Amino acid sequence: MRSEPSPSRIPRPTPAEAPGEVPAVEVRGLVKRYGTKTAVDGLDLTVRPGTVTAVLGPNGAGKTTTVESCEGYRRPDAGTVRVLGLDPVADAAALRPRIGVMLQSGGVYPGARAEEMLRHTARLHAHPLAVDPLIERLGLGGCGRTAYRRLSGGQQQRLALAMAVVGRPELVFLDEPTAGLDPQARRATWELVRELRADGVTVVLTTHFMDEAEQLSDDVAIIDGGRVAAQGSPEELCRGGAENTLRFTGRPGLDLAALLKALPADTAAAELTPGTYRVTGRIDPQLLATVTSWCAQHGVMPDRISVERHTLEDVFLELTGKELRV
Ligand code: ATP
Repeated sequence: MRSEPSPSRIPRPTPAEAPGEVPAVEVRGLVKRYGTKTAVDGLDLTVRPGTVTAVLGPNGAGKTTTVESCEGYRRPDAGTVRVLGLDPVADAAALRPRIGVMLQSGGVYPGARAEEMLRHTARLHAHPLAVDPLIERLGLGGCGRTAYRRLSGGQQQRLALAMAVVGRPELVFLDEPTAGLDPQARRATWELVRELRADGVTVVLTTHFMDEAEQLSDDVAIIDGGRVAAQGSPEELCRGGAENTLRFTGRPGLDLAALLKALPADTAAAELTPGTYRVTGRIDPQLLATVTSWCAQHGVMPDRISVERHTLEDVFLELTGKELRV
């Protein structure tokens, strides 16, 4: 039986840049090592201004290290990083007031009260957002006087998000902004990201949720093994060379090698569970007709038959060979 489509068939479009436009983030050949471990291995990433870019990747792929290099918290071992045209380490003083950073954890004095901290952060900026509505919409009203260390994980997360955006930054980095949030808080976070984008703010977020990347982002960068394996809009990535999936169910143990003989050379087929079949390749009306007529010739009555577009999850699996784990 022929093998499944290889990752190399997925295109790697470069996000279109308007002529003369300075990228919000431009990473070229970034290398970062921790001792003998190479966490980021020659990574290129471009983020266009005013867009939402989702950085996806399996655990340990190098997402956080890349984002921390953009935030100025890590000094590259090789390569260049430019954020709003500046070097995040050398130009940190000029850059910090222009960006917002939401870390996965830490960076907050554990005894400080939630609301005080947010108001303090707002005062550090020239044109902050109004604090009260922000507290309200992120559902932090009931815990404003609570010390940071006594907040629940979800409350700490929402406070970190509020602190990242309260200064009206031009660019925000959000590291797994909705991990561990309940559905309501997740929706509020998505709404806030959409509003930031509508206000012209550039957003870079790391996430483990495919639906989050699909719903929110203009561009998705899939990182694997310290490099970008593919970057493009969710639609571009899912088009994946016109690949589709045909699924049907029927009698278990069909002779797929015989079926494949009737199909174009770049088609693959597999019996996923007994009696559940998947055919991948360029699924067109002719191929569908060939499969159904082959079934008819062999006395197979498919109970169910469907043609599905590739999802971002399929693309991710093909590229990395790994499922996303939260
Ligand atoms: P996750 O999805 O699990 O958060 P990630 O894609 O963000 O992963 P990184 O946190 O950037 O990945 O880590 C990349 C690799 O570098 C991993 O193998 C990790 O164990 C290693 N690493 C990260 N930080 C350090 C450190 N401070 N010291 C040593 N190794 C590190």
